[in-house]
Amino acid sequence: MSTSRMALQPGGCLTIIGLGPGDARYLTPAARAALDAATDLIGYFPYVERVPERPGLKRHASDNRVELDRSRHALELAAAGARVAVVSGGDPGVFAMAAAVFEAMDTGPDHWRALPVAVEPGITAMLAAAARAGAPLGGDFCAISLSDNLKPWALVAKRLDAALGADFAIALYNPVSKARPHQLDDAFAIARTHRAPDTPVLLARAVGRAEESLRIVPLGDVRGAMADMSTLVLIGASTTRMIPKADGGAYLYTPRFHKGLETQPA
Ligand code: SAH
Repeated sequence: MSTSRMALQPGGCLTIIGLGPGDARYLTPAARAALDAATDLIGYFPYVERVPERPGLKRHASDNRVELDRSRHALELAAAGARVAVVSGGDPGVFAMAAAVFEAMDTGPDHWRALPVAVEPGITAMLAAAARAGAPLGGDFCAISLSDNLKPWALVAKRLDAALGADFAIALYNPVSKARPHQLDDAFAIARTHRAPDTPVLLARAVGRAEESLRIVPLGDVRGAMADMSTLVLIGASTTRMIPKADGGAYLYTPRFHKGLETQPA
């Protein structure tokens, strides 16, 4: 370890930062401070572009499909003495860069483990979307990414079936892409085997950005074409309810008390 430590230049560190769902108002003060302290900014280009340019900050934007390479690059720069900020949208630990950085560390040279590495959380899309709609995650819930770039679709389908069978409210990340046009419809088909057709489905698009839009559609009517890659899809639990608003919209919430609880023994 002592020889590998010598490979580190002093002053280097790496922080993996969540930028929140969009607008800078959703960036935490801690995340902002970590960005302000950085000498090097690394991430998928739309996220890097969200961070204002300033003197002393080098930007290394890259394509989305190279998370491990990007992580190794970040660790190499930090080992060479840079204060590196790796940025993700939302929270960096939710289907994002933090796990990639730790995987790179786990499979990389020993001296990377001596680097100060920290994660700064951000507001993940699921929580931003739920807050806009009301409180649909008030009971137990889970999050599933529909992307099968990193795992087989059979596993996604198995998890959907299990989570729907256990009556969780379910947040679906990465619901569709041009390469995977049918998966969201497949997910809705699985949901229809477990839930009533009037179960509310929230389609929350670009939450926290200028083009934000929210829709609530009954499970019986919802279609995959109603979502895109900027959409967070939330399928209600059997207990999720809608309260119509005066303006025609609705609040969505999942009660914390489960029906029948009052009849169970203490
Ligand atoms: N780390 C991110 C998620 C990355 S996966 C986070 O914590 O939010 C990318 C997926 O997140 C998108 O396909 C979409 O489903 C969801 N997403 C990210 N930002 C969003 C936003 N502002 N509004 C709605 N969904 C969003």
